[in-house]
Amino acid sequence: MQDKIWLSSPHMGGNEQKYVNQAFEANWVAPLGPNVDGFEEDLETFLNDDNVKVAALSAGTAALHLALIECDVKYGDEVICQSMTFSASANPITYCGATPIFIDSERDTWNMCPVALREAIEDRISNGKKPKAILVVHLYGMPAKMDEILKIAEEYDIPVIEDAAEALGSAYKGKACGTFGRFGILSFNGNKIITTSGGGALVCHTQEDKDKAVFLSTQARDNAPHYQHSHIGYNYRMSNIVAGVGRGQMEVLNDRVEARRKMHGFYIELFNDIEGVEVFSEPSGDYFSNHWLSAIIVNPEITGKTREYLRLAFLEDNIESRPLWKPMHLQPVFAEAPYYGTNVSEKLFDNGLCLPSGSNLSDEDRLRIAMVIKKTFLQINHI
Ligand SMILES: *Cc1c(COP(=O)(O)O)cnc(C)c1O
Repeated sequence: MQDKIWLSSPHMGGNEQKYVNQAFEANWVAPLGPNVDGFEEDLETFLNDDNVKVAALSAGTAALHLALIECDVKYGDEVICQSMTFSASANPITYCGATPIFIDSERDTWNMCPVALREAIEDRISNGKKPKAILVVHLYGMPAKMDEILKIAEEYDIPVIEDAAEALGSAYKGKACGTFGRFGILSFNGNKIITTSGGGALVCHTQEDKDKAVFLSTQARDNAPHYQHSHIGYNYRMSNIVAGVGRGQMEVLNDRVEARRKMHGFYIELFNDIEGVEVFSEPSGDYFSNHWLSAIIVNPEITGKTREYLRLAFLEDNIESRPLWKPMHLQPVFAEAPYYGTNVSEKLFDNGLCLPSGSNLSDEDRLRIAMVIKKTFLQINHI
């Protein structure tokens, strides 16, 4: 069996260990220390937004939970959420005892459809409940239609939480994804564009919002010599060891974005002469995707092959590929949740496939990938 080609695997830069060793040498083996501060500063610099304040946390999911709490989401509330996403976007809504209201995708960016968003807000308000927040996702690194979404959010005065877990290094009209909403969240899980093995961050716009996130993430301890609490706390802070990995990864983030975008270019070229396959790409120059994952839509009527056929062909050659995120409104666990839209995300899910996209793939890996694709769609058995 040939070596496995992964969809997206960790890619260390080399200096991660140096920062981790510094933490050991100074005995900063705790959920605070110079690496946590340094990693937050690196992220603030990278996001390049004047007043952005970043809190490093144990996971992107934890960051979403804290963002919702800071938006005052409570038991019985409703929160608007993009349907086509990873379940970690929606789960924290239920941690708060709130109900997710799912919104369909639009066809250009596969993200939240502004038309369905407006319809949902108006309908929820007419039912007597104004949504407490709008949770928008930049799927696979592709920026959502932020101008339209922010305009609607402003009109109805609802805060936006941006799930940029997959979009570190992406930008919309030159502004970094994660910096548009009242809060943004990032993830450094093992398969993301950079990784700390596991970790996340909350992007805030005031020191007060960041301080509150740090307070809540470290068990909400009041200022007293004994342990005094007037809030429910969480254990969500990032450890200084993990942050050391993050500092090393930040040194290579721009290279990683470039490599992922090159993989996307590789697929564009490869599918250029294959009719009936669309490579997920930026709709215009306003969008800059990190192309965390490259994805395609297969039209079985034109190609004569389903995305599942291609997935199994890859599998046979020990190459990992994966269907797109199954929309949340189709998930058994969210069967009761309201949904607004048509069937855009369902169709994307039926025909979409994520392809190997790692920044560490070799020319040899690309050759194997190309071979399977050419065999599947062009019946060509050699390159
Ligand atoms: C990875 C991911 C998350 C969760 O991040 P973790 O750090 O794994 O908790 C949330 N939303 C999206 C869209 C993701 O891809």
